[in-house]
Amino acid sequence: MGRGTILAVDRGALPDNTRRIMDIFNQMAAHDHEQVIAFQNAATGLRGFLAIHDTTLGPALGGVRIWHYASDAEALADALRLSRAMTYKASLAELPCGGGKTVMPLHEGLQRAEAFQALGTLVENLRGRYFCARDVGITDDDLANLARTTRYVAREPSPELGDISEHTAIGVWHGMRACLEFAGIKKARVAIQGVGSVGMWLARILKKEGMELFVADLDAGRAQQAAGELGAHVVAPGEVLTTPCEVLAPCALGGVVSIETAERVQARIVCGSANNILGTPEAGDALAQRGILYAPDYLVNAGGLIRGAEYYLLKRADSRASLARIYERMWRVLELARERRLSTARVTNELAEARLKRPKFFRDLTWGQRADARS
Ligand code: NAD
Repeated sequence: MGRGTILAVDRGALPDNTRRIMDIFNQMAAHDHEQVIAFQNAATGLRGFLAIHDTTLGPALGGVRIWHYASDAEALADALRLSRAMTYKASLAELPCGGGKTVMPLHEGLQRAEAFQALGTLVENLRGRYFCARDVGITDDDLANLARTTRYVAREPSPELGDISEHTAIGVWHGMRACLEFAGIKKARVAIQGVGSVGMWLARILKKEGMELFVADLDAGRAQQAAGELGAHVVAPGEVLTTPCEVLAPCALGGVVSIETAERVQARIVCGSANNILGTPEAGDALAQRGILYAPDYLVNAGGLIRGAEYYLLKRADSRASLARIYERMWRVLELARERRLSTARVTNELAEARLKRPKFFRDLTWGQRADARS
């Protein structure tokens, strides 16, 4: 029997609801997700999915995303994909944690402040199995409302923790630095897709490093801010993937590089913060075949997770040295990919999976006081 397949059932004979539930189990089984919580709260309009992919290495860490989705199925698929990427990211960064994600479709009936407090209660009731943070669409107010009802949320920016997005951007720079050196490029033109929280921090770092910047954002005001503050050239959102440059830095949403778009990318390096940059693993092969160096997203965008995990789990005051190790990991992946004639994406997946090959079980985790540590 293939993984994630339920046999010996005539699906056509089942009522719709039963079929949908089976689909969720099949989707979870396909990549061995531990738990998916579908939540709704009529009083506040709260609705969404909380996916915990894996707690083999420790509690599941992962942001809350609120975005426009065409359907609930699309939101669920995003939660499953993103939570899994968090597990791989934590594994590769050698952190004692696993991956989770919360995805909420943006809709008119949402009473935002109350909804985030209700979500906080749900997170609190998981007793530390899942620790949440900011992802796309989340504001400082949303984090503050979560923090009213749960301890398991990264409140930032704060003087001690810093700004998670800045840490992410620093990590992306370390990965990009490795790619540039590997390709023998000193000065680069970098095209950034999305100058939101991470993209803007990255643009600031790149400016200091003497790079020429091209920026695109669906929010024209943000692109203009980068132009005004940093002298970046503004590019139309539809043109950024094909802008002639040395580095393409996707810092918006995932899935931007497909087999089709891989053929049109003009850059020699693709390295950005967006999660799930490749639509499929084959898109990574397509980049490799064209000689384009791809920096696997979850390798280079781990800076925020590293900072959060080190601050909350390991009580470290400073994570600069750990962020700099992204350079070494990226370099190792580039060398392995060259030696083995594989895409960097495939090499990175293998490295991340190697650390997860322990028997998997549901862990009773309480933040800072893990069940196995008590026994
Ligand atoms: P953000 O919402 O602050 O910024 C995203 C920006 O991209 C917005 O300005 C938005 O208008 C723009 N955008 C969206 N679609 C676009 C398109 N098609 N073309 C051009 N611009 C577009 O989000 P963020 O926190 O900066 O995160 C960016 C990406 O990095 C996301 O994929 C996120 O999952 C990933 N990521 C973020 C962090 C973090 O620390 N914030 C950590 C790891 C990964």
